[in-house]
Amino acid sequence: MYCPICRTEYRRGFTQCADCEVELVPELPPEPPPEPEPEYVKYEEVYATYDKGEIAVIKSILDSRNIMYYFADEQFGSLYPSVQPAKLMVNKDQADDVKELLDDFKKGR
Ligand SMILES: [Zn+2]
Repeated sequence: MYCPICRTEYRRGFTQCADCEVELVPELPPEPPPEPEPEYVKYEEVYATYDKGEIAVIKSILDSRNIMYYFADEQFGSLYPSVQPAKLMVNKDQADDVKELLDDFKKGR
């Protein structure tokens, strides 16, 4: 027997939930369906660079195309030389497009 409110399982002989003071039911109603997953963007690393100028250009390229991105480990501006390159992270769905853009950008130099 189960309490329909707190879903506690009771042994035989109980008819009422001690906490909720409601009649126990032989079986629990099905769980409500789970909330749909929130839109979750998967990011993929497509490029890494130490070059601050390059980052600025890449940002302007991506901004002009409304591509979602961010730079991970971007440590420029700190007093210390960065030990890790800034990694360009983009939406997985757009990773191939971005790689093409970057290829064009690198060829153009
Ligand atoms: Zn209960």
